[in-house]
Amino acid sequence: MTKKIAVYPGSFDPITFGHLDIINRALKIFDEVVIAVARNERKSPLFTVEERVDLIRAVLKQNERAKVDTFEGLLVDYARSQKAQAIIRGLRAISDFEYELQMAQINRGISKDVETVFLMTSVFYSFLSSSMVKEVHSLRGPIDGLVPPLVKKALDAKFNR
Ligand code: ADP
Repeated sequence: MTKKIAVYPGSFDPITFGHLDIINRALKIFDEVVIAVARNERKSPLFTVEERVDLIRAVLKQNERAKVDTFEGLLVDYARSQKAQAIIRGLRAISDFEYELQMAQINRGISKDVETVFLMTSVFYSFLSSSMVKEVHSLRGPIDGLVPPLVKKALDAKFNR
């Protein structure tokens, strides 16, 4: 049987428990999940792509079914290069939906072989985003339940705390 492979693209600036929840749930459906950090950033990221990749690798530890990579250019082309049948995206609020639907339709227009699969956020993480984490951390609020300890350390280091 062909291996079921999914690409999970994003900024991961930095990875949160919300992302991890989506990764762990995707691993129940797919044989392999490729977490793909986008290099073509419109947003100005806090962590470099390499820092974000290292953090994801450290947080995931050794799991041969979860790979970490970077990509640039068209996501669909990247998914094809990974022999992925699916793109995973997480959905939190209705506000995510409009943009995500648009992206999924565009990607489907480019390639019919790659299906976008949406996983609904767990209630517990529905308000969690990387930008929220950065905001709370910058205000010296607690982020312990939002990101793994390694990520908190990396944030502290960025701000010389
Ligand atoms: P992007 O800039 O591509 O949105 P993000 O790193 O912000 O990159 O998000 C990557 C993916 O993870 C998106 O599909 C986003 O909806 C999803 N995601 C982020 N946080 C959560 C969360 N708390 N629960 C579910 N999905 C999430």
